[in-house]
Amino acid sequence: MTATLIKKTPKTAPAAPATPPAPGTLPAHADVVIVGYGPAGAALANLLGRYGVDTLVVDKAEDILPMPRAIALDNEALRILQMAGLAEDAFEKIAIPQVRLHSPYAGEFGRVNTAGCLDGHPKLITFYQPEMEQALRSAVKQHSTVRTAVGVEMTDFMDLGHEIRLQLRPADGPAQTISCRYLVAADGSASPVRARLGVEFGGETYPQDWLIVDAKHVRSPISDVEFLCDPERPVPHMIAPGGRERWEFMMKPGETREQVLQPAFLRELLKPWANPDELEIERTAVYRFHARVADSFRKGNVFLVGDAAHITPPFVGQGMCAGLRDVANLGWKLAWVLHGRADARILDSYDRERRPHAKAMIDLARGMGLLIKPVSPVAGALSSHLVKNLRRLPPLRALIDDLKIKPRNRFKEGLFQPRNRDDRLDRGNHLPQVWLRNAAGQGAWSDDALGERLTLVGFGVDPLQALSPQEQAAWTAAGGAFVQISHRGQLGQPRPELAVWEDLTGELVPDRAPVGWLAVVRPDRVILHDGPATDAGRLVRETLSLLGLKG
Ligand SMILES: Cc1cc2nc3c(=O)[nH]c(=O)nc-3n(C[C@H](O)[C@H](O)[C@H](O)COP(=O)(O)OP(=O)(O)OC[C@H]3O[C@@H](n4cnc5c(N)ncnc54)[C@H](O)[C@@H]3O)c2cc1C
Repeated sequence: MTATLIKKTPKTAPAAPATPPAPGTLPAHADVVIVGYGPAGAALANLLGRYGVDTLVVDKAEDILPMPRAIALDNEALRILQMAGLAEDAFEKIAIPQVRLHSPYAGEFGRVNTAGCLDGHPKLITFYQPEMEQALRSAVKQHSTVRTAVGVEMTDFMDLGHEIRLQLRPADGPAQTISCRYLVAADGSASPVRARLGVEFGGETYPQDWLIVDAKHVRSPISDVEFLCDPERPVPHMIAPGGRERWEFMMKPGETREQVLQPAFLRELLKPWANPDELEIERTAVYRFHARVADSFRKGNVFLVGDAAHITPPFVGQGMCAGLRDVANLGWKLAWVLHGRADARILDSYDRERRPHAKAMIDLARGMGLLIKPVSPVAGALSSHLVKNLRRLPPLRALIDDLKIKPRNRFKEGLFQPRNRDDRLDRGNHLPQVWLRNAAGQGAWSDDALGERLTLVGFGVDPLQALSPQEQAAWTAAGGAFVQISHRGQLGQPRPELAVWEDLTGELVPDRAPVGWLAVVRPDRVILHDGPATDAGRLVRETLSLLGLKG
């Protein structure tokens, strides 16, 4: 199996380098201020822009961080980037077909099948983080309600309940006080906002340092991700776009930063993989990994997202993915509250929905860490042989090889109608994404067809047919839209208030969603409610009630 390169189309000129705002040009107020313009902050800025929210993003750095950090993303993260408005070719990716685990004791003992797509996106890709962040920043420019200010540090804030006052200090100007309704801390793992709130960041910091090396190497011998699980010196190694390769070397006791960053030392480390003369070392960094989760992702009107809320060892490539899940979950809720389409109490569901999953992913990474860097040679021999043998049993093989071990992003509790015996769709889970076609013959991914609204979807049925004009009006006032998705060849008649599509894949209707059934789908694609088309009025009333509105 070989990796597939998904190219970026060079259709837009690279964005001009950002410049700090001139003194005094910061707005006096924004409904939402995002502190931190890393990937989590930039993705949220795009989402809030799409929902039309008055937003200011500030970052103390003047440009994108050049450090070697995230390299892999999963299909869920790519789906969120799609929701944030990034085109499929906005940044280059390599689709990774498999992840292989080797040990000195058992040879290849694990192989995870990551080939193919889920919900319209490759299950695993590698990418170049600065290019992806640049694509997010370029996309922000389309949104007239979003302002950005780089080279501006947030130095203090006070949550007064009805508003938050913030101190912002531009690099070369006087500090300014501005106000906002909600503050989002996307300010990274050291999060000054989290520290100021006094929110605990419990967990562990690993005792070892890791040397990360990104190099350009045109003749890469691998086409996937490999983990060399040697307790002496474990090494994850992978390819990335632009002829790049990444190595992550665990440093041995006694090795120092200065020593491992010496060119001669690096050449020795890389020798087993490549002729060092054929490698152009692009970036190096030494990191210590952490597994920590904030005690709460919300305090008052302040929300933590991304590394400010959780930080994971990168063994399953999920740190940024988790941050993207945070902003997809929070963005529309802030928008609905600020637009008066929901009560502020819905914001409590952000922590309830996101924190358990973020923690579960970190637990998976910690477990994977025990395989990748066993505590001793005996533990390494035992664990690699155990996994190798367990994979001989089909149910356990699926757990490892088909990623069934990965925690599902399905909520136990939160902003959805409680599950019961009559529901046919998985409330609190995400609606699968499929390829659709409308009456004009235009194709679209179902998420794009649903757009930025709360949607009442009728599967093979007109979702409006059993609604009174008052219920329709209440739904529209709550930011609701109506969409009909039928199975192939059974397109209904579109009307101004109803978009009509056919499911070309047959994977949604009738396989997952029975004909004659309705679903209420949140803007983050989570199924909030479902029921028969005859009960449309009840679904609308119960949804409005969950949003804290009267039906
Ligand atoms: C070696 C390594 C490998 C990784 N691999 C993966 C991977 O394969 N897949 C994956 O999903 N994740 C991975 N990650 C994790 C991923 O890189 C991070 O989760 C992600 O970059 C964090 O994004 P963020 O936006 O939350 O924070 P950051 O990118 O850290 O952004 C925070 C921003 O806040 C700004 N800021 C801080 N304080 C202030 C202030 N007071 N005022 C104004 N601005 C402020 C900073 O300047 C910074 O720009 C990896 C990380 C490492 C270290």
